[in-house]
Amino acid sequence: MADDVRVRFCPSPTGNPHVGMVRTALFNWAFARHTGGTFVFRIEDTDSARDSEESYDALLEALGWLGLNWDEGPLVGGPYGPYRQSERMRDGVYSDVAQRLEAAGFAYRCYCSPQELEERREMAKAERRAPGYDGHCRELTAERIEAYEEEGRSAVLRFRMPDQEWTWDDLVRGPITFAPDQVPDFVLLRANGEPLYTLVNPVDDALMRITHVLRGEDLLSSTPRQLALYSALGAIGVTDGSIPAFGHLPYVMGEGNKKLSKRDPESSLQWYRDEGYLPEALLNYLSLLGWSMGEDREFYGKDELAAAFTLDRVSPNPARFDLKKCTAINGDWIRTLSVDDLIDRIVPFLQRAGLVTGTVEASTSDVLRRAVPLVQERMETLSQAPSMLGFLLVSGSDFTVDEADAASQLDEKGRAVVAAALSAVTDLEAWDAESIEGALRAALIDGLGLKPKLAFGPVRVAVTGRRVSPPLFESMEILGRDVSLERLAAAQ
Ligand code: GLU
Ligand code: ZN
Repeated sequence: MADDVRVRFCPSPTGNPHVGMVRTALFNWAFARHTGGTFVFRIEDTDSARDSEESYDALLEALGWLGLNWDEGPLVGGPYGPYRQSERMRDGVYSDVAQRLEAAGFAYRCYCSPQELEERREMAKAERRAPGYDGHCRELTAERIEAYEEEGRSAVLRFRMPDQEWTWDDLVRGPITFAPDQVPDFVLLRANGEPLYTLVNPVDDALMRITHVLRGEDLLSSTPRQLALYSALGAIGVTDGSIPAFGHLPYVMGEGNKKLSKRDPESSLQWYRDEGYLPEALLNYLSLLGWSMGEDREFYGKDELAAAFTLDRVSPNPARFDLKKCTAINGDWIRTLSVDDLIDRIVPFLQRAGLVTGTVEASTSDVLRRAVPLVQERMETLSQAPSMLGFLLVSGSDFTVDEADAASQLDEKGRAVVAAALSAVTDLEAWDAESIEGALRAALIDGLGLKPKLAFGPVRVAVTGRRVSPPLFESMEILGRDVSLERLAAAQ
């Protein structure tokens, strides 16, 4: 059991969940599922100034919506809880470890004021020395400490970095080495006793028995510090001395080959939900950012992903976020849905557009069941549903014709075409697509000698309100005779 894979996803609840974060969660989830390991979800909320309850809720909601179920974490608990660092902090987990590190000499109090640090940093820069902490307080005498305390200085707790090279075999990038002067002594506790990320993150990875740390490349530079802290935790008996393997996932680049920023609207998960991307499609697409299944397979569900997910297929090269491709994959996923499933997913969009009321009436449901297959082929996002189907769901004066389309299609000639169409279908015996098509072709193409585009364009705008619509004859069938005639009459 000791070898079982344990991975974690440990976001800080600041702001809205973004796609980079989801990609990290997904890779950890897939690796856990592939290996039969455990997917731990931990909330790193020790920064009260930046963290919010709203963002915490949004994170839980996001993973739930995506279907990335976690084995240990908030809501489900687990043997290493609590899984919110704010709660662990209240339980004294970090202050206890900090004290033990200090008592064993792995950490020391640093009394340097921010100004002093800044001055010495400037000086180091001018003299072309490494600008990190210079070890000033490493070996303070008891008298010196007393004097500082009397001056009323407060102290942070600093980790004493051993003077050595730091090397690990990155699961994604291979061997990586940092020179000793690249990793200066770092702060574990603020002067007010608040623990920092540099302490809480590796301490929790250790206490939660994490075996593999898979996270973004932006965190690569913190790995040497964590390795050092890990061995100290082993030395003071917090862990058995084992150290997790680290793998750093490639950056996700946005437009113009810049790192996708939290400020880009299409980096926010909520944007995809609002636009009507399916969770299946988003996961599918995000899995392609730095990983590949091979054999050019790019369309698969998350269980297939889990079955195939190995780390040797993670690439160290930056991945480019391509919204067009993501949208195309979404369209492919929409086409895999059953009509009933697709209806269930578009109803909220129709409701938001005011086209459907809270409870879907039987007549609406019937219209949707007949109309959705007509648009499923062309729909790329669920948010297109209101504009594609709206004309079938409104009645009377709620039906409007697009102004620009009316101007181009319903000029004098166009209105004459509509008038001819109206008389052609008024007395049709059977109101079905085939009969409607037959009557219109006979009247407009054979009778008036029009090209199909000139014949059906005006009719389409009159009946659907737009130049681009689902197939015309089927639409008229679903609309019914009365409404179709009414719209033709209004437009002629
Ligand atoms: N809370 C950290 C973050 O959101 C986690 C870093 C890590 O995965 O180690 O950046
Ligand atoms: Zn100092």
